Amino acid sequence: ARASAASAPITPGALADGTPVPLLANLGKPEGAEEAVALGAEGVGLFRTEFLFLSSSSAPTVEQQRETYTKMLAAFPGKKVVVRVLDAGADKPLAFLNDAHEENPALGLRGLRALRASEDILREQLTALAQADAATEADLWVMAPMVSTVEETRYFTEMARDYGIKTAGVMVEVPSSALLADKVLQIADFASIGTNDLTQYTLAADRLLGSVAAFQDPWHPAVLRLIREVGEAGAAHDKPVGICGEAAADPLLAVVLVGLGAKTLSMAPTALADVRASLLDHTLHDARRIAQAALTADDAAGARLAAQQTATREK
Ligand code: PEP
Ligand code: MG
Repeated sequence: ARASAASAPITPGALADGTPVPLLANLGKPEGAEEAVALGAEGVGLFRTEFLFLSSSSAPTVEQQRETYTKMLAAFPGKKVVVRVLDAGADKPLAFLNDAHEENPALGLRGLRALRASEDILREQLTALAQADAATEADLWVMAPMVSTVEETRYFTEMARDYGIKTAGVMVEVPSSALLADKVLQIADFASIGTNDLTQYTLAADRLLGSVAAFQDPWHPAVLRLIREVGEAGAAHDKPVGICGEAAADPLLAVVLVGLGAKTLSMAPTALADVRASLLDHTLHDARRIAQAALTADDAAGARLAAQQTATREK
């Protein structure tokens, strides 16, 4: 019999010593769910809800949202689905949330800041999410983007819980939140690290600007040290820390991220297979040593090289 790779069962994400590392999907619409499941996604680590409304001139209705969120949650019965409330502004402006011209939109009224300025839209989204949750069997987690203070963490998690959301967390994608992760995780149920923005803000380099693209490298030890802060805070408070930025899709960096304390990794579904294979090559002890080697480098290239050398030695 010919065993085809496509029909072989896909095992859940795990390290060589059996430590589970659930591998989740980054999705922008429910239509992507089927392919993600086929590629072995164990749930959704980042549902970017703003992608649904990029071309809308007015705010979506509660009914419209409930229908879409129900579709997404229904595709993952019994599985975790992390929904991010609208992340509008900068690279993803929404006509009904971002109206003012800003010189530096990445540093402007974006993410949770924009939702807070139009609080009805946030309340309607939480209403729709709670309704979709009640109608389905998925394990719904809800998080806010661009949280930069402890006060914003409290604001969002309290509001989400008021709407019946059982698991309320924040994205850590601004250095201030990473540095205060011990306080943020006292309040939030979980944190998900957005390495795309965390890198942009740590290196002060616009993630959309080609002329500074070389700075946008999540291997940079300054970024890794911030991620370590969050991983350690998660362990101290026994709160889950996941990664949902592009960094999780890099097979060796994925190992480093687990070594720094990430418990789950979320990525574009097409990256799942390579990351799954890479994790199976290393124990948790190895992952920590590889991460340690990367952390002590001077720059991104040095961190990558140190990780590669340590990983090769350990095999
Ligand atoms: C991130 O910033 O890493 C992230 C996952 O969010 P987005 O790319 O949508 O800003
Ligand atoms: Mg982001």
